Amino acid sequence: MKKKNEPSFYESVQRNFDRAASHTKIPSGLLAQIKECNAVYQIRFPVKIGANYEVIEAYRVQHSHHRAPTKGGIRYSRKVTQEEVMALAALMSYKCAIVDVPFGGAKGGVKISPREYSTAQLEKITRRYTTELVRKNFIGPGIDVPAPDYGTGSREMAWILDTYMVFKGGEIDAAGCVTGKPVAQSGIRGREEATGRGVFYGIREVVNDAELMNSVGLEVGLEGKTMAVQGLGNVGYHTAKISSEEGGVKVISVAEYEGAIYNKSGIDIEKLHRHRARTGSIMDFPGAKNLEQRKATLEVRCDILVPAALENQIKKSNANRIKAKVIAEAANGPVTADAEEMLLKKGVIIIPDMYINAGGVTVSYFEWLKNLSHMRFGRLEKRFDQNTYLNLVNLVERQTGKSIKEREKTVLARGADEIDLVRSGLEETMVTAYGQIREIMHRKKDVKDLRTAAFVNALGKIASDYINLGVFP
Ligand code: NAD
Repeated sequence: MKKKNEPSFYESVQRNFDRAASHTKIPSGLLAQIKECNAVYQIRFPVKIGANYEVIEAYRVQHSHHRAPTKGGIRYSRKVTQEEVMALAALMSYKCAIVDVPFGGAKGGVKISPREYSTAQLEKITRRYTTELVRKNFIGPGIDVPAPDYGTGSREMAWILDTYMVFKGGEIDAAGCVTGKPVAQSGIRGREEATGRGVFYGIREVVNDAELMNSVGLEVGLEGKTMAVQGLGNVGYHTAKISSEEGGVKVISVAEYEGAIYNKSGIDIEKLHRHRARTGSIMDFPGAKNLEQRKATLEVRCDILVPAALENQIKKSNANRIKAKVIAEAANGPVTADAEEMLLKKGVIIIPDMYINAGGVTVSYFEWLKNLSHMRFGRLEKRFDQNTYLNLVNLVERQTGKSIKEREKTVLARGADEIDLVRSGLEETMVTAYGQIREIMHRKKDVKDLRTAAFVNALGKIASDYINLGVFP
């Protein structure tokens, strides 16, 4: 709920846009075109729940048609409003531009709390929502391609695909109408973890940046850094798990819907995940202490804070109590524009949502390409590469006269599977995008924060698309 004097999520996005726009030479008419949402579809549809009919409120917003298709997740939450979906759709346009994913931005929202419905009821709602999108031409592999977001996952995406196929089964590329599908239903390996893995790669870039680490008095490198995570859903869970397992990060606090826990020696995320699956709660996790309020996680002393739940979590009222040196916006819009001003003054590094959580849409793009090509990545080259590497290993063995163990040979001569290629493509994307953002900060001395630099990058790319289309001279 919007508190008095706090900017709404949409207002924060628009304010950040204006701040970045002042650092560009993009003409004002073009800026106005980029800023506005191009199409807003507001839907009300009836669904029979038990003995009664419920009228469900839902949205699909296409923010920018400078590229086709448009792309963005579907959120299921009681808090969904048209403004929220508009803010999320706008962020998608900037996000896609930052990671060079050739889509316009979009977002969907259904105003329901999934916890309050049975699986069968959720399926009914999802299928009806999809039908409404098909009816108004708001979905299709070349039109608008949804994906998971807060409150939805691969199960909902499978229902969307199946419903779309009922209407458009004859379309050869129909599977590309939605991403984040189960692997067995035209999905791609690595999509489930993609946003969290992207967050991990992005944080790694920032903590390996000596200039930035110097500015907050932290050592360069991930190993041993402390992290607090708000939200152990898709994004928070994978971020925490990969950061600790692959980056040597110590996750000292986790917050979920039901509360928060703390352990200064570190929390084993996989064990915590299993504990929650078993008990229905993260509370009373062995070795950790329960915190009094779930929002306490945001305020623990740590190197890296990862808000991975919802927008407007760090605001004017609590910004002064934040003790983290780095905030990685895994969620969309967790820091309000007012709070950001206060935190930047304190020297906190904020890694903006539109960069740090772009891993999901990046791998969604790979999934869409896979659907259009009708072939798994790696199928053509895997065996060829494997044989070439094996020949090389055998040659080294012959030339040196030293034998290489069979197990080592298998590792050295392995051809890439789909998951290897997806992770490699994701890592490359996050590293390249970070380089572009930092290059802007180095070139434009008055751009001093990562969000403004990321925005300037996005605006430049979208503006040049419009100019190339001949829409603006
Ligand atoms: P999710 O539904 O899988 O998980 C969110 C979790 O946050 C839930 O477990 C929920 O119980 C918890 N939560 C809600 N309010 C909380 C609070 N006040 N304190 C602690 N925990 C709370 O959703 P998700 O897909 O992980 O999305 C989370 C955020 O990441 C959203 O802002 C979403 O827009 C953004 N995001 C998601 C993706 C994606 O691929 N899923 C991609 C980019 C950005």
